[in-house]
Amino acid sequence: MVFAQPLPVALSPSRLSDFQSCPRRYQHASVDRIPQPASYASTKGRYVHAILELLFALDAAQRTRERASALRDEAEATVLTDEVRADLELDATMLERLRAESEEILDVYFVMEDPRHVHPEGVELRLNVEVAGTPLLGILDRLDRDDEGNLVIVDYKTGSVPDRRYDSLTFANTELYAALCESHFGERPAAIRLLYVAKGTTMERRVSDVVVRARVQSAQQAWSRITTYYDDGDFPATPSARACRFCAYQERCRAAGVPVVIR
Ligand code: SF4
Repeated sequence: MVFAQPLPVALSPSRLSDFQSCPRRYQHASVDRIPQPASYASTKGRYVHAILELLFALDAAQRTRERASALRDEAEATVLTDEVRADLELDATMLERLRAESEEILDVYFVMEDPRHVHPEGVELRLNVEVAGTPLLGILDRLDRDDEGNLVIVDYKTGSVPDRRYDSLTFANTELYAALCESHFGERPAAIRLLYVAKGTTMERRVSDVVVRARVQSAQQAWSRITTYYDDGDFPATPSARACRFCAYQERCRAAGVPVVIR
């Protein structure tokens, strides 16, 4: 098979995660570019992210709880596009629920930190660099500098708090961000801080040389396989409960005879 679309020019941590869970999923999302319908959870995540991004665009003194609520209309205009509204079949009841739950998350966030006293180096920072021959792309929620002068990657999470036994999986994406930062700024962040803003929990991990090198090597190997599969015209499906359960391409796979696993 010859693909109609070109290969993406760079690999992002989330697409790397798609590829590692199932190469066919990467193909559908990144090569065939078949849109994945918006879900309520993903929309709520984007909505809260949009408010926090708008909040940090203000002068520090203006980043109050009241001001965050006042950014609602601007966030909705960005996030609730016609496509998203159609995917969600958004009605007045769902919209009220989305607003109320986002307000609850903002209440929790303002207990976790006071954004008036946070002075980021960057917000929604788009980094596009080549690392060890692999083109990488990442968008960081926030890059802070701590009291000791070290860079800290900050990532907002609106889902539940993961089991600490799976830290290496939880931090995998952001550890690749550390490699992007090092390549772009010539300075490796010292730590990664995940803010679970729906739960009021912070998870933090130091960034080590060994781990960053391992993440880069893993991305490098994946990119090499991606280009090979693309040239071969076939990205194999590797169904598993973890990969398939929330995959948007289940019907497409079943129609192609792939034994999708959802238990
Ligand atoms: S449904 Fe399963 S096998 Fe098919 S693309 Fe998604 S993860 Fe892969």
